[in-house]
Amino acid sequence: MNENAGFGTRAIHAGQSPDPSTGAIMTPVYLTSTYVQEAPGVLRGYDYSRTRNPTRTALERNLAALEGGKHGLGFASGMAAIHCVLNLLQSGDHVVAGNDLYGGTYRICTTLYAKFGVTFSFVDMSDLDGVAKAIQPKTRLVMTETPSNPLLRVTDLSALAKLCRQRGVLSMCDNTFATPFLQNPLALGIDVVIHSTTKYLGGHSDVVGGALVLNDDELAKRLAHFQNSVGGTPGPMDCFLVLRGTKTLHVRMERHATNALAIARDLEAHPRVERVWYPGLESHPQHALAKRQMRNGGGMVSFELDASVDDAKRVASSFRIFSLAESLGGVESLVDHPATMTHGSIPPEERRKAGFEDGLIRLSVGIEDVDDLRADLHDALAVLSR
Ligand SMILES: *Cc1c(COP(=O)(O)O)cnc(C)c1O
Repeated sequence: MNENAGFGTRAIHAGQSPDPSTGAIMTPVYLTSTYVQEAPGVLRGYDYSRTRNPTRTALERNLAALEGGKHGLGFASGMAAIHCVLNLLQSGDHVVAGNDLYGGTYRICTTLYAKFGVTFSFVDMSDLDGVAKAIQPKTRLVMTETPSNPLLRVTDLSALAKLCRQRGVLSMCDNTFATPFLQNPLALGIDVVIHSTTKYLGGHSDVVGGALVLNDDELAKRLAHFQNSVGGTPGPMDCFLVLRGTKTLHVRMERHATNALAIARDLEAHPRVERVWYPGLESHPQHALAKRQMRNGGGMVSFELDASVDDAKRVASSFRIFSLAESLGGVESLVDHPATMTHGSIPPEERRKAGFEDGLIRLSVGIEDVDDLRADLHDALAVLSR
């Protein structure tokens, strides 16, 4: 396949060719731990499945092609992928990270790595002067998520990448919310992209996985060494499920975004909704940047109600099509109350500093019929007038 093929063509074909022994068009699920050697040390590219597995290789190549990167590395979860990058750090190092990170990322920083003598500054990544000020001589890594979670703030990736280059700091972007269909951080100068493939890449809420994509050969070698040494690698069935998911990524993301925009506009017009965060809305403070950096606004919408926390929880529990659940990015719509669910591991004062109140509700807008989703939202909000 031509390297310059369009996104949809790469999504369906990159990293995959018909099985040479049978012609099977789908990549087989290579359920094997080991590989027979022709003579001691004479291999056909594979020796042990923690190190490499053909189903995983297909996925790693596919994801690298979608991100426009040279190297892809698969992991058993998004957290295992983030952990792999954090393994580059040593005691005394400092990290600058976004202050509205995924809760699990915040937790691994503040519990595991703080214990090893790594220090962190959590800052607003949409304020690059603040980021520049937070970078110290000991800063080794800058981590951002864009759009962020749950406030859907947008980081200017090319400006951030430039700043990190100037200061000699490695830059990492969690591209889980945007997916490679919407935005390609490597093309904007970011060093390492991480994904929770559990979300949009898998897309069907049936698998947990993670990935890294990068261009630098030396760094890729070091990270592959950690990947193999630590062993947080995905099984072949999980790789197959994500590969199947990426084939429809472009189609799903278009629908997620048109549905999410319709929902965001309804929320904006609702008298009891105080504020809506969606990068595709003109009212989003960084709408112009989002338009420049992303193909569309994505599928995530957050909103704050003009209501008590208990009322917010009541609304979150009153949907019929949106399911009350953590996670995101599947074909089905989900509703989340971050303060008690996804972001419960972030202390309340940190959450407030990051700018989100306990009444915040986050929606992962699925690809159901939009009129059904709008009616569900309308009915759930109606509990406020009861
Ligand atoms: C879910 C998620 C993670 C963690 O991924 P897992 O697959 O759950 O380990 C990291 N970052 C973001 C933005 C996520 O949404």
